[in-house]
Amino acid sequence: MNSLNNKELIQKYEARINDLESLIEISKSLSSNLHYSSVLDSILLTCMGRARVLKAGLFIKPDIDSNEFSLYRNYEGFNPDRKIQYTISEDSEMIETFKNNPQCYTMPELLGAVKNISDLKSFTILEPTLIIPLINRANLQGLIVLGERIINEPFLEDEKDFLINVAGMAAIAIDNSFLFEISTTDMMTKLKLKHVLYQTMKQNFDPELPPISLLMMDIDHFKNLNDTYGHSFGDIVLKKVASILISSLRLEDLAARYGGEEFVIILKKMTVEDAELVAERIRKRIESLEFIYTEKCKNEIVKTTISIGIARYNSILDFVPEDLIKRADVALYNAKEGGRNRVEMAP
Ligand code: GH3
Ligand code: MG
Ligand code: MG
Repeated sequence: MNSLNNKELIQKYEARINDLESLIEISKSLSSNLHYSSVLDSILLTCMGRARVLKAGLFIKPDIDSNEFSLYRNYEGFNPDRKIQYTISEDSEMIETFKNNPQCYTMPELLGAVKNISDLKSFTILEPTLIIPLINRANLQGLIVLGERIINEPFLEDEKDFLINVAGMAAIAIDNSFLFEISTTDMMTKLKLKHVLYQTMKQNFDPELPPISLLMMDIDHFKNLNDTYGHSFGDIVLKKVASILISSLRLEDLAARYGGEEFVIILKKMTVEDAELVAERIRKRIESLEFIYTEKCKNEIVKTTISIGIARYNSILDFVPEDLIKRADVALYNAKEGGRNRVEMAP
């Protein structure tokens, strides 16, 4: 009898050590990554693997000043109805419940704890098997929603404990990557800030590495556009142009806001001909944009263009980032002088 108890105890401790080892691994993998969207992806995949579920989703705030949690694009396996907004207000009774009693909830448990059933409507359609709060330093950052399990069994208390620990680490990782994101990103355009550009350039100012190409861009006659349609309309144009830049790049490239309506792109491992093709593609995409100005009872189509100067890193000419920027700037100046809406190469 005694030896059986000992055996059970040993098994229990071994399972606990296993869990702790897994938690350390998960913590290492989450904290080694600062890229916000890949942190969210790895949280989802970790939870799916550990909880043995086919679906997982994350309700988080889409913006720093948002007052609701949203499913947005952060889900795996679920097939949400695109017509429905999966959002939960920060002021809802359900969120209060998670804050006051931070634990994992099954849907029946949540239905028992929350009086205002309408708070749960975003969940009801998803049919979650478990909902786990993401809490760091007493802040509720969001909720992990797990779907159907691979094994058709309810969650054990040990599994719930493990998942709440994973969620705690996930919350720290989200916090860290979010801080990193806001300290490196221009919040208006979502482009990288100047200091990130300089750091990337310095890292690539190495004759041993494939030379980078730098695209210096400036929106044409933007002052005129602001003066004619107003600053807030100018902001809409600026954001759209920035989104075109971001969507025109590969993961290893970088797009930064260099000044008000001036942008820089760094293209890595690319021939100068290909860099010119990328620039030309961006120029054409921006040229084909149509903005609708509806104020003052108008319904006017507004167009914009961009000029681009390209320079390629040359270890004989470029010692500091400013050298390469200056050469791209000269090419941009030539593009402006040549009539704007053009791409020019630095000599
Ligand atoms: P060019 O074709 O020679 O580049 O002419 P331009 O009018 O675009 O050149 P300029 O650099 O003189 O004007 C840039 C304008 O961009 C002036 C400034 O008010 C505007 N601008 C800078 N930042 C912002 C911003 O965040 N939002 C808006 N709406 N306008 C901005
Ligand atoms: Mg300018
Ligand atoms: Mg301009």
